[in-house]
Amino acid sequence: MNKNSSNTMALAPNTSNKRETVCIFGTGDFGRALGQKMIQSGYPVVYGSRSTQISNLIPKDAEVLGHAEAAQKAAVIIIAIQRQHYNFLTTLAEVLHGKVLVDISNNLKLNQYPESNAEYLAQLLPGSKVVKGFNTVSAWALQSGTLDASRQVFICGDDVEAKQMVMNIVRGLGLTPVDKGSLLAAQEIENYPLQLFPMWKFPIFLSLGLGLFFFFYSLALDVIHTYIYENNNFSFFIAITVPNRVFPAMALTLFGLVYLPGIFAAIIQLYRGTKYRRFPDWLDRWMLARKQLGLIALAFASLHAVFTLVTPLRAFSSWRTSRQIISQALSNETVTLDHTNAWLSDSYLAMGMLGFFLFVLLGITSLPSVSNSVNWREFRFVQSKLGYLALILCTAHAMIYGGKWFLNPSAYKWYLPDIYMLSLVVPCAVLVVKFVLIFPCVDKHLTRIRQGWERKPRYSE
Ligand code: NAP
Repeated sequence: MNKNSSNTMALAPNTSNKRETVCIFGTGDFGRALGQKMIQSGYPVVYGSRSTQISNLIPKDAEVLGHAEAAQKAAVIIIAIQRQHYNFLTTLAEVLHGKVLVDISNNLKLNQYPESNAEYLAQLLPGSKVVKGFNTVSAWALQSGTLDASRQVFICGDDVEAKQMVMNIVRGLGLTPVDKGSLLAAQEIENYPLQLFPMWKFPIFLSLGLGLFFFFYSLALDVIHTYIYENNNFSFFIAITVPNRVFPAMALTLFGLVYLPGIFAAIIQLYRGTKYRRFPDWLDRWMLARKQLGLIALAFASLHAVFTLVTPLRAFSSWRTSRQIISQALSNETVTLDHTNAWLSDSYLAMGMLGFFLFVLLGITSLPSVSNSVNWREFRFVQSKLGYLALILCTAHAMIYGGKWFLNPSAYKWYLPDIYMLSLVVPCAVLVVKFVLIFPCVDKHLTRIRQGWERKPRYSE
C-alpha cells in the first residue's frame, strides 16, 4: 500500500464512530450536567424521570420519558439518583436485566453504609451489570468545563465488558478513565470525594503543634522576659518580631523533617541488613508526607523572606538606628566598620538567599506538571542532591546569624537556648548522620542492600 492511499484512508470519515444512546435516570443537578456534556460530545441522551414534562433546565435535544421506556432505548443507564431512592428500581428489574447500570452516587459521611452504594445497587438488581464511576466529578465542573484539576474518572465493576463500555463513554467525554478493579473498590471510590486533604493531615497538625510551641517560646523569651527583667514593654513584637522568629524556625525544622525519615530508613536497612522487611507504619506514613512537609516549610521560608524585607520600614528599626547615631554623637566617637562583622552579615544573607532559591526550585519540581516532565534520575538529583545543598545553605544561614551568641551566657534567657538554636537541632542532626552515611564504606554497604543484597538471605539457593 502506498503512502497516498494510507493518507486517504486516514481522512475518510469513520462511520463506526456513531455514539450509542445513553439513558440517564434522574433530571437533577448531576443528571442534567452529565447529559449536557454527553450531548456536546455526540451522545444521544434519553432521560428516565418521574415527570415526562420538558422543562427549560433539561438540555436541549434530550428526550424525557418514563423510567421503563427510557431504559429500553439504551444499553447503558446512568443512575443519577440518591441511594435512598434506589428501592423503586426493583420494580424495573425486568427491563433493566442485562443492562449496564452506572452508579454515580456519593454519601454524606465516610463509610456511611455497611456496603458501598454500587454494591447495594448490584444486590437490588442482580440481573444488571453495575459499574461505579463519575462520582468524583462534580456537576459544577461538568458545566463550567474547568476539569483540568480532575480529569480522572475512577471506574470499577465486576463485568469487564460493562466496564469497558463505561470507560469508552468517559473517553468520549474527553476525560480519563482509571480502572480501579472490581466492585469491591467502590467503597474506596465513594470515600474519595469525602476526604479532606488526607495527605495533608499529619503535616498540618505537626506544623500547628510546632508553630504554637515556637510562638509561645519566642513570646516568653523576647517579650515577657524583656518586660520582667529589662522593664521594656515590647508587646508590639507580637506583630512582626515574634512571627519572624517563628517562621524561619518552622521552615528549618520542617525542612530537616523532610530528610529525617530517609535517614531513619537508611539506618534501619543497615541494621537489618536487608531492604525486604517493611518499615514501621509511622515511618511509612512520614515518608509519604515528605512533599507536604517540604511545601509547608517553603511557605514559612517565604513568609520569613517577606517579613524580613519590611524590617527597614518598622518604627522600631528607625528608633534603634537613630538611638545608635545619637549615642555615637554624644560620646563623640565614630565606630569604624568591623570587617569580620560585615563578612559574617553578608555571608549569612547570601546563604539565606541561595538556600531559599534552591528551596523554591525544589518546590517547583515537586509540582506534578514539572515532575512528570523529568525522568526519575533528574527528579532524584533535584530532590536529594540539590535538596541537601539547600538544607546545608539554610542551616549555615541560621548558624552564621547566631554563631557569636552560642557561647554567650546572655543569649540564654531563663537558661533556655534561643529559638534559632532550637531550630538547628533537627537539620544539624540530619546533616551529621548524612555525612556519616556518605562515607564510602557505609555508602557502599547501603547501596548493596538497596540493590537486593541480604546479610541473612531468607531464600538461600
Ligand atoms: P438531585 O439534584 O437531588 O437530583 C436527584 C434526582 O433524583 C431528582 O432530580 C429526581 O429526578 C430523582 N429522584 C428524587 N427522588 C426520587 C424518588 N423518590 N424516586 C425516584 N427518583 C427520584 O441530586 P444530584 O445532585 O443530581 O445527585 C444525583 C446523584 O449524583 C446523587 O447520588 C449524588 O450523590 C451523585 N453526584 C452528584 C454530584 C453533584 O455535583 N451534584 C457529583 C457526583 C455525584 P426526577 O425528578 O427526574 O425523577
